[in-house]
Amino acid sequence: ETCKLSGHVDECCNCTYQDVDRLNTVVHPLLRHLVRTAFFRYFKVNIYCDCPLWPDDSMCSLRACSVCECEQSEVPQPWRQQEEEGWCNTNQCAAELDSRVNSTVDPDTAVRLLNLKGWRGFNNPWMAEPEGTDDYQYVNLLINPERYTGYAGDHAHRIWNAIYSQSCFQRQTPAVTSSSSFSSPVAAGDGDDEELCPEKRVFYRLISGMHASISAHISANYLINEERGLWGHNLTDFRKRLGTPELRDRVENLYFAYLFVLRAVMKAGPLLARYEYMTGLADEDATAAALMQQLIDLPELRSSCPMPFDEGRLWKGGDGLALREELRSAFVNITRIMDCVGCEKCKLWGKLQTLGVATALKVLFSSSDCSGALPTAPSLSTLVLERNEVIALVNLLERFSASIEYYRQLSAELQAQEGAE
Ligand code: FAD
Repeated sequence: ETCKLSGHVDECCNCTYQDVDRLNTVVHPLLRHLVRTAFFRYFKVNIYCDCPLWPDDSMCSLRACSVCECEQSEVPQPWRQQEEEGWCNTNQCAAELDSRVNSTVDPDTAVRLLNLKGWRGFNNPWMAEPEGTDDYQYVNLLINPERYTGYAGDHAHRIWNAIYSQSCFQRQTPAVTSSSSFSSPVAAGDGDDEELCPEKRVFYRLISGMHASISAHISANYLINEERGLWGHNLTDFRKRLGTPELRDRVENLYFAYLFVLRAVMKAGPLLARYEYMTGLADEDATAAALMQQLIDLPELRSSCPMPFDEGRLWKGGDGLALREELRSAFVNITRIMDCVGCEKCKLWGKLQTLGVATALKVLFSSSDCSGALPTAPSLSTLVLERNEVIALVNLLERFSASIEYYRQLSAELQAQEGAE
């Protein structure tokens, strides 16, 4: 009972925690199915790039951390072919294609041009621009699930510290650490963010929500018995991360982040509906397209939460442009910090999720041409999403959706356990 959430998730929108729970019972099975299709299960990522922040950094050697890369033959054939033909692996080429997309009036031609751009996902003002593309590998997300890896302690805290201490999350309150090495201002109390303006509060809630989602995945997919290789729910771990009333604001931020990403998916709906989900596996591709259409058309979305997040209310003040630039640069730094995560699997999911958030931000807040203009909402006709962005956005929503489900399950189990004691 103590962990029950009530009221509205965000003051702007008429969407309650109960609405989200109800909606998620329909959204989650759809997303679970969608991310298992070929298009959404292969993500191209560089998990070996150097950490720009701490030269002494090294990868962790925990077995549970390692990522299994795809054999070349497993990568969808049309994607391999595109790369063998050297399609569009440079920024210049991407920019040329963008201008051709923007100047075409026929949506089908625009989509065909977009597909030429291949996998990249770099043409995003909210992402750090990578040096090169040589070290990128395809990873099958289904055989590298996000779960407990044993990555913890000073190294992991240093990353969360660096993330939360980006300028937009700075607070006046001095740090009170809940563990020896964690000194982010956030540790002063996760929910104590009165002094943040609405825009900064949105960013803080997005990061905290993503952090809560990672925590939920760890507690729900824990190595219970190492000898027997048994995985399952760890209620003690859950209690510590999310399961007590004092930590409720982390869970509230998870719900907020879910609605934010859901709004981005709905807004990009027309583009996602006509995207070519093409992996060469006709049945799976047809399933992916049909499920995506079903998601976008869900009647429950309109009845339960017609406006999950209202992006139109942000950047309204006189300093809107400067504020957006400050937050953009802070978020780009966060995408760089991901190179320092000291565990391959955590880095894989950290990178996927930050690209997912960057894609949601791009859909809701940025002009696709990075011109620095201040559109609160880019027009859909000029929105360009590359394959990796689409994959990351949908997988991110599935992560958040699964985390809400885990939270419900584990809270009930914890309550039953505590009641029995
Ligand atoms: P941490 O989760 O490390 O949190 C540090 C401090 O942040 C807490 O003491 C608290 O003050 C504050 N805090 C915690 N949660 C929130 C929140 N939601 N909002 C605001 N403040 C908060 N480990 C795995 O086992 N599997 C993974 O897949 C995995 N992926 C990771 C991905 C990234 C990008 C990072 C940085 C770490 C990842 N980790 C993963 C490590 C994991 O997140 C924890 O750091 C680790 O389990 C240690 O947990 P902790 O209890 O010390 O608290």
